[in-house]
Amino acid sequence: MTGEQFRDAATSVVNDIERYYTTLPSRPVVPSVSPGYIQKLLPTEPPAKGEAWQDIENDIERTIMPGITHWQSPKFMAFFPASSTYPGILGEMWSAALTAPAFNWICSPAVTELETVVLDWLAQILGLPEAFLSKGEGGGVIQGSASEAIVTVMVAARERFIRRQLEREGITDAEEIEDRSCELRGKLVALGSDQAHSSTKKAAIIAGTRFRSLTTSRSDNYALTGAQLRTKLEDLTSRGLHPYYLTVTLGTTNTCAIDDIASLASVARDYPDLWIHCDGAYAGAALVLPEYHQSLSNHLTHVDSFDVNMHKWLLTNFDASCLYIQKRRDLTDALSITPAYLQNHFSDSGLVTDYRDWQIPLGRRFRALKIWFVIRTWGVEGLRQHIRRHLHFGDIFAGLVRERSDLFSILVPPRFALTVLTVNPRRKQRTVLDEQAEGGDPRPYEAQHVPVMAETDDEELREANEITKEVYTAIDERKEFFLTASVIGEAYAIRVVS
Ligand code: PLP
Repeated sequence: MTGEQFRDAATSVVNDIERYYTTLPSRPVVPSVSPGYIQKLLPTEPPAKGEAWQDIENDIERTIMPGITHWQSPKFMAFFPASSTYPGILGEMWSAALTAPAFNWICSPAVTELETVVLDWLAQILGLPEAFLSKGEGGGVIQGSASEAIVTVMVAARERFIRRQLEREGITDAEEIEDRSCELRGKLVALGSDQAHSSTKKAAIIAGTRFRSLTTSRSDNYALTGAQLRTKLEDLTSRGLHPYYLTVTLGTTNTCAIDDIASLASVARDYPDLWIHCDGAYAGAALVLPEYHQSLSNHLTHVDSFDVNMHKWLLTNFDASCLYIQKRRDLTDALSITPAYLQNHFSDSGLVTDYRDWQIPLGRRFRALKIWFVIRTWGVEGLRQHIRRHLHFGDIFAGLVRERSDLFSILVPPRFALTVLTVNPRRKQRTVLDEQAEGGDPRPYEAQHVPVMAETDDEELREANEITKEVYTAIDERKEFFLTASVIGEAYAIRVVS
């Protein structure tokens, strides 16, 4: 493809992309294809001769679109959102144009330096404590996903624990260090609540340590508390195990619960080797609102690391997971290995950042560009408006559900534009309707609405689960909207992200 052909092809692609976004609301949000559909549409052998661009481009609509789940569709209310915006797409285009696996500063100084600047900007927007800014001992780094961030900090936590323990034991001989490290690893325990994302358990598998889950309760709205942590820590240490890592979540996947960071941190003060990571993959984006700075951002002084996916709720195309750490040495001490072929005088000078030492892979993409484009296009005010708009949609939806308290119950208070609801068992629906028909409840209609699901007996729970599953399956089969169902505690529930 020549430069001129590229210009024509790119113009046509941009036009098609714009048309795609315009037609998005009318496309079915979930595809109807069967597994293996694409193999049936494509030749089994690769093309012997190169093809014309137009033929390739035509295959987007013919071959790819039928198998696309449209995450940007207004009818997509499943999981958590995945942002896509035009400035984000333009950032991806430039990143592709300047493609470079810029692992060291010298591999493209702009890639490293822009990343440091935009992550400092974002830290300020989110009201993160100063310790997470690059001007001190901390800083931010872009990872591919929240899961990757968790593995990365868990490995740093493991190595920090082992290093400190070896120091305490005065072990300096290389072989002894290796033997004792292996012994200690077998006793290390990573922790997360039963509502923490599964990536914490997966990270523990990768880090080669144990994992224990802490049970949350409905009465705490599925948030983890200091009391639960203390009991677990005391139990583990009394059995000679070493808890070394804890994920606390700001906005759990199931219900957007916020773990009680202040009480957890106060317990953790008695366990100074416990690394606390705050997973704000989705709801961390809400910290752009100043009203959360006092109540949430300030508590992050107590955590070692914090992560938010800009690619979920902050208008930036996948992938852009922003990991912040209070002491960058904790990462680099664990992950920095410098063979001769990676040495250069800039790195040796200690004056530059080599982000390869802050992550698992060596090579890295120019992801800071799209964040830069997004923050500059929206400005802080625009980002705040965007989040407020979604919170408003969430309030509207939760209000509509409350208006039909004969049919639905809300499981936990709606938060961060997520409403989690169950369908009432048929006999309960009848009772509410009968009461209303008989004028049995003298309170005004609004006041009758049950804000959250009341405690249920076993039989009622079983019936509620059954009918909620039925309703979810019917919605799923209609393919008009895409929602997610989950099991929370013992309740089968439907999640709606507005
Ligand atoms: N943490 C939370 C709270 C999540 O909800 C999710 C995914 O939705 C993740 C982590 C994993 O995110 P990623 O796909 O970026 O690894």
